[in-house]
Amino acid sequence: MEANHLKENLRKCSRCAICAEVCPIFHIKKNEVSLTRGKFTQLLGVLNGDLKFSKKIKKNLNLCLNCGKCQSFCPSNIDAVKIFANFKYKNLSKLERFLSSEFIFKLKMLPFNVFKRKYKEKEGEIHFFGCISSYKNDFKCCAMPYLSKGRLDVYEKLMTHNIKMASDPKIKKIIFSCATCYDTFKKYPLPRTIEEKLYFEPELKIPNKPFTYHKPCHMSDETYSKINETLKRSENYIPLPAQECCGFGGDFFLSHPIITLKLMMKKRKQIKKTGAKKVLTSCPVCSFGLLAGKILGGFIEAFYKE
Ligand code: SF4
Ligand code: SF4
Repeated sequence: MEANHLKENLRKCSRCAICAEVCPIFHIKKNEVSLTRGKFTQLLGVLNGDLKFSKKIKKNLNLCLNCGKCQSFCPSNIDAVKIFANFKYKNLSKLERFLSSEFIFKLKMLPFNVFKRKYKEKEGEIHFFGCISSYKNDFKCCAMPYLSKGRLDVYEKLMTHNIKMASDPKIKKIIFSCATCYDTFKKYPLPRTIEEKLYFEPELKIPNKPFTYHKPCHMSDETYSKINETLKRSENYIPLPAQECCGFGGDFFLSHPIITLKLMMKKRKQIKKTGAKKVLTSCPVCSFGLLAGKILGGFIEAFYKE
């Protein structure tokens, strides 16, 4: 994004503070710079030449789960994740570039290869499982992990590749089971012919005991309400009173473990209150976060007071 385009977007912020109601980071930190609006004010200051892009501003930008919740609720529909990525991209150090490279990402994903699944695809159908489950076909990562790190170059490269693959006329249906991949793909500049091929079909195994459902932050409300319709058909379904972030957001937990821990424990508390014996979700990273909450939670609860 050019500086003028960035400024134009940042000026759309009316400072209404609706993002304060939904931003998981703001709920924990409760200060202006942790909020979308506060970050925007600083970035506009940088573009206007009133502020220097300092380490502190960079730190504030990294204090974000890239969940996109602020955009879904923002009356001006400002894409904060894209804006932050533009500033990060221009200010990446050599080490940060290396750590956010495809090589390192693939290395980090290696342990998850145990989850590789085999799937019989029907003719004309492709399953886009996402990075944790493997790429069975010629598609590549949806590129959200790179966007969140500010690697716009890798994001553009992978996005261009995936659009090219999706435009194959032999492919009639692309099925996603991860909400983040689906949402990221849908945000590509896609022609209608490709948009119509995209389907979100989560693998929900409805249990025979009380269960609840965790909505991944990237899942649109429209998709969530469709899933809710399916879940509500089961008498064992207990909806969560509020759908809050599990705290993991890619590898955010590695750089901000305390915030992740607080969000994880908050989530665990909400789940426990429902009395559910099982939690379903539609994102592999959220599954990992919820599992961590379940295993570590009891142990941490003995020491942790919110
Ligand atoms: S919701 Fe949007 S317009 Fe309102 S303060 Fe937040 S970023 Fe600005
Ligand atoms: S993307 Fe999520 S964590 Fe980041 S500012 Fe928006 S709501 Fe907050």
